[in-house]
Amino acid sequence: MREIVDGVWEVGIGFVHAHLIAAGGGLVMLDTGLPRRADRLADAVRATGHQLTDVHTILMSHRHPDHTGSLAELRRRTGARVVAHAADAPVITGACPLPLHSLVMRLTAPLMRTEPAPVDEVLDGDGPTGVPGITAYHTPGHTEGHLSFLLDRSGGVLFAGDAAGVLFGRLRMPPKATTANAAAARASIARLAELKFRTAAFGHGAALSPDAAARFRDFAAR
Ligand SMILES: [Zn+2]
Ligand SMILES: [Zn+2]
Repeated sequence: MREIVDGVWEVGIGFVHAHLIAAGGGLVMLDTGLPRRADRLADAVRATGHQLTDVHTILMSHRHPDHTGSLAELRRRTGARVVAHAADAPVITGACPLPLHSLVMRLTAPLMRTEPAPVDEVLDGDGPTGVPGITAYHTPGHTEGHLSFLLDRSGGVLFAGDAAGVLFGRLRMPPKATTANAAAARASIARLAELKFRTAAFGHGAALSPDAAARFRDFAAR
């Protein structure tokens, strides 16, 4: 775990990150990592100097099981309010099966089986998250209901989820095999490039700073 800006922690869980954000008088959890990793995140919460019950909100970037895996267990342990986009919420709650649009997803699905979890608040588009200083942006493409989040702190911190990733220090598109609509994903990166932020954090790949928005603008122009 590392603190990427004041009060924002990047928590590695296998090949994916969750993030913890000190905000709203307690802690916000952004994504929950792989299935059966609730203990790992509980340890991370305590390492920030907080209790599990200080986690008042869990923001979900999207429906994939490397992000929703430990949600049900962490919601039970924290009592937090869960926020997700309307288009991805039915998969998170188990009302709809996870769409498997590639061989890779069909092969890995049995390993990534995830306990359904209630979603307490559904967002339809850009707007407030209920946490002061954190705004949601609808960035469809990787999934229909993918959300990115912008934290108004330290020059702006973008949480891009899987809307983009970082490999060897360079921005990249989300993997084709797990992305529902590549053209929409490109358009979402162009939208994110218009926002103001100094740091960008990702589901996959280390956070970029201090010129993260410029890196997005360059990437979107390619
Ligand atoms: Zn994903
Ligand atoms: Zn992912």
